[in-house]
Amino acid sequence: MIPYGKHVIGDDDVEAVVDVLKHHFLTQGNKVQEFEKSLTNNTGAKYCVAVNSGTSALHIACLALDLGQGDLLWTSPNSFVASSNCALYCGAEVDFVDICPNSKNICPKLLDEKLAQANAKGRLPKILTVVHFGGLSCEMRKIGALCHKYGVSIIEDASHALGGTYLDNKVGSCQFSDITVLSFHPVKSITTAEGGAALTNNPELADLLQMYGKHGITRDTGKLQKDSPGGWYYEQQFLGYNYRLSDLHSVLGITQIAKLDEFVSKRTTLAQRYFSLLRDLPLRLPWQYEEAKSAWHLFVIEVLQHRRSDVFSYLRDNGVGANVHYIPIHTQPYYQQLGFAWGDFPNAENYYNNAITIPLHPLLSESEQDKVVGLLRDCLV
Ligand SMILES: *Cc1c(COP(=O)(O)O)cnc(C)c1O
Repeated sequence: MIPYGKHVIGDDDVEAVVDVLKHHFLTQGNKVQEFEKSLTNNTGAKYCVAVNSGTSALHIACLALDLGQGDLLWTSPNSFVASSNCALYCGAEVDFVDICPNSKNICPKLLDEKLAQANAKGRLPKILTVVHFGGLSCEMRKIGALCHKYGVSIIEDASHALGGTYLDNKVGSCQFSDITVLSFHPVKSITTAEGGAALTNNPELADLLQMYGKHGITRDTGKLQKDSPGGWYYEQQFLGYNYRLSDLHSVLGITQIAKLDEFVSKRTTLAQRYFSLLRDLPLRLPWQYEEAKSAWHLFVIEVLQHRRSDVFSYLRDNGVGANVHYIPIHTQPYYQQLGFAWGDFPNAENYYNNAITIPLHPLLSESEQDKVVGLLRDCLV
């Protein structure tokens, strides 16, 4: 089966992990900070807190922005469930902003309308979590201006987009957001097996992110509430979690991020090749725009004329690990119990009904790609 996504592990990665196993602390050593530094260097953000998953990073991002009971978070229905579940972990409520049919990202125009209505009703969200779907940045300048106008905080769920750019900045720079969240799951731009990170330019948020991921504990003498009786002393000041990333995982992140540009450039070349090979087929191909360069996490085609299921099965039956991203979050049984229904976010639903993710990852060969294209041609011509 040709998988839709796959990690790339080299000898350098293996050696780095073995070196930690043999010679260093397995956890709570200095590799975590080194990895965090490589992430701030790469993205341009000032502060980084690495944690054990992207989901954990989303959770501490919500906590650091003080999301709690009675609050509301809005996100995209076209995402993995973690984007909205993190708000429910905090006891907050969730709602969604529909996507643009072209970008598959939250639509600034629909956001504008929804914010105006929410403001009139006195029920604005505390946080908007945008999702850079497939690796393509949302239109952050417009979204940033709208949220600023209404005092709404912004989290970027950039789980797909490490290595992408927006305007002249790397995704993760937090130019238009409070916090950016990354995931290092094996299908993402780089991997630590499991892992994630939260980036910010705000020192107070950085402290809160750090503490929420480490039990709410601080050892910083400048932050203690009581006099320190000695060097062993620490304080738990609020309820946090153990979301630590181990040194074993962090060192993999360090060797991986050194290859990020290479990975993204391979993905980009393969994506451009799909564009030329699929040009004449009755498909809608991914949208691109001037201000952003995608990290090409996913290559999604939209199959027209209700043929999606047939084409999907034909690919799967012939050794291609096609997938679908995403079943709109609000249509999940759990979310329907919360009151959402089919029809609530029609752009995300229409897109979902036609979408197929075809293989795209740095190890995909041209002959594998030709096979995928040949199978699509069999079905569609
Ligand atoms: C992968 C992903 C996450 C969750 O990341 P984990 O590291 O698997 O916890 C969250 N949001 C989006 C959009 C993702 O793709």
